Amino acid sequence: MQYFVPSDDPPPLRILAEAFPPGAAVPLSVARAAIDVYSRPGDVILDPFCNSVNVIQAALEAGRRVIAASFNPINLLAIEATLWPIDARSALTHLADTHKGAERLRDHVLAQYAARCPRCGKAALAQAFIWDRDQNTPLEKRVQCEACGELSGPIDEADVTRARRFEPRGLSFWLLHARVIDRQSEEADRVSEILDAYTPRNLAAIGDIVLKIDGLSEADRSALRPALLATLEACTSLHSPDDIPRPAGSLRAPPRFVERNVWLELENLCRTPALVHSGAPAPLMTLLASDQPAVSLLAEPARELARLLPPKSIQLLLSHPPLPRPTFWSLSTAWTAWLWNKSAAGGLLPLLSHKRTNWDWQWRAIASALSALQATLKDDARSVMAFAGDESILESVSLAAAAAHHVIEHAVCDPHDGLRVTWRPTHAPPAIAPEPSGLLSTGIHTLARAAARRILRDRAEPTDQLTLHAGLFAALGQSDLLAQAARLPEGEQLPLTFVRESIKAAFTSADSPLTALDPHTWWLKDPPSLQTPLADRVELALLELLQSRVEWPSDDLLREVYRRFPDHLTPDRWLLAMCLHSYSDEPEAGRVRLRAEDSAQARAIDSVRARHDLETVGKRLGFEVMADQPEAERRRVTWRQSGEIVHAFVITATAEIDLLLHQAAGVLVLPGGRATLLQHKIGRDVRLKKVMDAWQLLKLSSLRHIAEDTDLSLNTFALAFGLEPPIEQPATQIRLW
Ligand SMILES: [Zn+2]
Repeated sequence: MQYFVPSDDPPPLRILAEAFPPGAAVPLSVARAAIDVYSRPGDVILDPFCNSVNVIQAALEAGRRVIAASFNPINLLAIEATLWPIDARSALTHLADTHKGAERLRDHVLAQYAARCPRCGKAALAQAFIWDRDQNTPLEKRVQCEACGELSGPIDEADVTRARRFEPRGLSFWLLHARVIDRQSEEADRVSEILDAYTPRNLAAIGDIVLKIDGLSEADRSALRPALLATLEACTSLHSPDDIPRPAGSLRAPPRFVERNVWLELENLCRTPALVHSGAPAPLMTLLASDQPAVSLLAEPARELARLLPPKSIQLLLSHPPLPRPTFWSLSTAWTAWLWNKSAAGGLLPLLSHKRTNWDWQWRAIASALSALQATLKDDARSVMAFAGDESILESVSLAAAAAHHVIEHAVCDPHDGLRVTWRPTHAPPAIAPEPSGLLSTGIHTLARAAARRILRDRAEPTDQLTLHAGLFAALGQSDLLAQAARLPEGEQLPLTFVRESIKAAFTSADSPLTALDPHTWWLKDPPSLQTPLADRVELALLELLQSRVEWPSDDLLREVYRRFPDHLTPDRWLLAMCLHSYSDEPEAGRVRLRAEDSAQARAIDSVRARHDLETVGKRLGFEVMADQPEAERRRVTWRQSGEIVHAFVITATAEIDLLLHQAAGVLVLPGGRATLLQHKIGRDVRLKKVMDAWQLLKLSSLRHIAEDTDLSLNTFALAFGLEPPIEQPATQIRLW
């Protein structure tokens, strides 16, 4: 994907929405664009690390076949529950009617949450308790009282006694533990930690339900699984009462946590009316046998996928790279074992090891997945990955792809939105002679510098580090340097650190042509004479497009702008938004048109009038006035006294900054509609901060004001400068008029 496609905001998954944040998935807009560019109807798209419905939805819309896979069955359950929700009410009744001893299961489980109403004292049912983690005691309860309705209040002695009746690490604990892993296993302690993320009472309730589920029909079990999964997530002790998001990666309860009533949670989830969709995933064989649009879901790791898929069957691999998520993987392991069985969770057990949580392990895992899938890709296939603007992901994914002999084609980046990287997988890996790490480091160093210099020259403006690094990894990924780094012998430095350090040295050593203007922005130490800054080129391109049609669908307009600025020229979304806001209005949602006052004709009239006003005012204030030829593109007017220039005015209709960078001082006369855009451009280009001390701004509206003032003095004239000039403030106007 040579052109940037901004993220959209697709709806979240129906269950476990928090575990699958939209920012950690391929955006729907990007999936649509990648499928459009790199495949044709009937082709097979593969998402091997699937964590959202976006790739599936985009593929089906476009008449493609799609295989969505994940090593984690929980991902696929959440996706299936979103695409094909099932009505679980009758299955829930079957579960409720099973027996625990002499009692119905429902009655038995609910009895564990019995509590008195804090207002009237009658017997009631607790919906939740709020616990103090360190004192290990409940503090508050929320109950459902037949007389008073739902209310919260302090706990009483009986609540504490009831909570303590459930032994920590009691029978239910070990029953659920044994369902995940053998007690002698190396990771048995890690599984204990996972189970400790539930209160003993909730573990008892979960244990009862899990045992009874096994006796239900397969249809009932399938129907209940999504709601049960959501219940297992909601009933951990990891939720705080105010639902403040926890730091990721911890199985430790927050200082105050909520213990939810497991049965009520399950009932609520089953009651939520599900719009029952028709359809179901297709078996892989059915999908492969026809070229009709279809989707297969496979809970398999990449090496298994590689065995299941025919060689050269995939046209496009499209995915979000898997991120290290130790807590979610740990919980997923337990949930998978409880919802299905021990063997279903077998593939997840290796992920319980603490070693499997860093980027150094992760890039190797991605590399081996991509290598395994190599044979399934067609000769002209592409791999596209979209992910958030994060250096660690960029470095790891680039290294992984290089190790799997993927040659990078494009890396486009908007630091505020994310990255989209495209590779061409090569089938015959080049024979790479390992180079000594010293030579390799020099190679990376040289290439990184040359690439950075080229990118900065092309953009002709100080550039965000992430945009620069995206361009840099694109250059490195076209050479064999990354592939060589990936093969560095296990020794002093890990490949990821090696690449990172080599690039850092290229940027920061004393002889580097680059300089950091702030911690995230790089520029050239000796900038040569450059073309117009990117910010100006983007503004003019957008203006030209707006002038070319009466009205645009805003998405089409933005797509057209991005097409004019491919690869490392990708502009950031804020700049685009500010340009669009400055020049257009919205006759209806999703459509834009050039503002009437910005038509070429209106601006020409403004310009003539401004020149005339400057001449009039200048003469009135006793200056000698000189104006350039009226046909000049930008009109210049100077006020002089005894031959010396007092004010040099430049009349412009745009917020171009090139002028400010190349002329030492002056007064910029511009439409008020450009004010915010100009401010934004000054804010995003560090070079302008100093320059602006020597410049003054005069809005057309302020110039009108003073031109109409026949008693104008130099003092009053000074009040007209600025983007929010005193002359336009209500208090000043009263004094003036
Ligand atoms: Zn009550």
